[in-house]
Amino acid sequence: MLSTGIRNARNVVHYLFGMGAIADLSTILDGRRINISDSVIFFIDSFFEHHNLLEGFNAITSGDQIIYVNTIEEPTTSFINFMRDKVFDASAKQPCAIVGIGGGITMDVAKAVSNLLTNGGNAEDYQGWDLVKKPGIFKVAVPTISGTGAESTRTCVMTNTANGLKLGMNSDFTVFDQIILDPDLTQTVPRDQYFYTGMDAYIHCMESLNGQYRNAIGDAYSTQTIQLCRDLFMGGDMMSDENRAKLMVASYLGGCAIATSYVGVLHPFSAGLSVVLGLHHGVANCITMRAMEEFYPDGYREFYRMAESQNVRLPEGICRNLTDAQLKQLYASTIIHEKPLTNALGECYKDILTPGKVKELFLRM
Ligand code: NAD
Ligand code: ZN
Repeated sequence: MLSTGIRNARNVVHYLFGMGAIADLSTILDGRRINISDSVIFFIDSFFEHHNLLEGFNAITSGDQIIYVNTIEEPTTSFINFMRDKVFDASAKQPCAIVGIGGGITMDVAKAVSNLLTNGGNAEDYQGWDLVKKPGIFKVAVPTISGTGAESTRTCVMTNTANGLKLGMNSDFTVFDQIILDPDLTQTVPRDQYFYTGMDAYIHCMESLNGQYRNAIGDAYSTQTIQLCRDLFMGGDMMSDENRAKLMVASYLGGCAIATSYVGVLHPFSAGLSVVLGLHHGVANCITMRAMEEFYPDGYREFYRMAESQNVRLPEGICRNLTDAQLKQLYASTIIHEKPLTNALGECYKDILTPGKVKELFLRM
């Protein structure tokens, strides 16, 4: 067993949980609005542009700025820089709070912009570990889809298209100051998407518990997350009120788990699919699972039992017609993830994941 080297873990400072909890957002923001000119930036998933979920809650005041976040593509470093500029252009004064309402994409945009506004520079300057030096603007998350744990992790994932690196700003300052977990908000998520994103919580923890870098508290979070996923994905409708609440808790705990541990083989392959083929994280994980039986036989079987139990459609044949150039790119953007691959396979992971082996695994997807 190896030590993760993460000794002094930081979690979300405050959280609120419960159906209807979003009603408390205005009180939380009022606590930050000291002067009349203090304004809040809301990053909101573009799905809600036509489903106004803040109506009636008085959370938005006249000086605030709402920026709808398009989720067609996952965030690139230049997209994050563009979002930061939008905030700068709207006002010379720093906002008193930044709120991210949506899935992993929107929450990650909120985290990254919050850090950039106080630290200066560009998003790509902070891809890595502990490069952010100052606290960001007070940041709040309201997840509207559960699974990634972005609401509770110390990272925000983004891709630098110039060098193909999909890596976050891993930092204590990336952790949200406040989160509001309201299971009412996930009712409208399409079923397949709900499963793809939801399984991210299961996969983070399954990979972490099968890894060599371990942390006792991380293991406890992971075990509980997996138990909740089993209960909800194998016990009736995964989108019932009770099961949506369970998945929201699993997502939060899974994010806490990953703050003190690492993922394994599946995530690097999934990142390769996202970087080279533009597939979104949740669905890319589910596609990658097709090639994971030899690494995670129990997790593999359980995953398909859950998908079958929920009658979810899993894409296949994605890598059937890849060119040699794409396969080369896929190898490069998978093998670059040294920490998770070492966690799963040991330091000599490149001896196991040779270019030929990686190609064979991709072709199975
Ligand atoms: P997402 O943000 O990609 O959204 C998925 C889809 O669901 C979008 O079409 C969105 O509009 C829709 N949606 C969200 N809420 C909805 C609702 N209530 N009703 C209807 N539609 C809704 O979702 P995700 O899977 O949560 O996030 C993936 C992103 O998170 C990726 O960019 C990935 O890299 C990142 N990620 C971050 C972390 C982290 O720790 N920061 C961890 C894992 C993944
Ligand atoms: Zn993930």
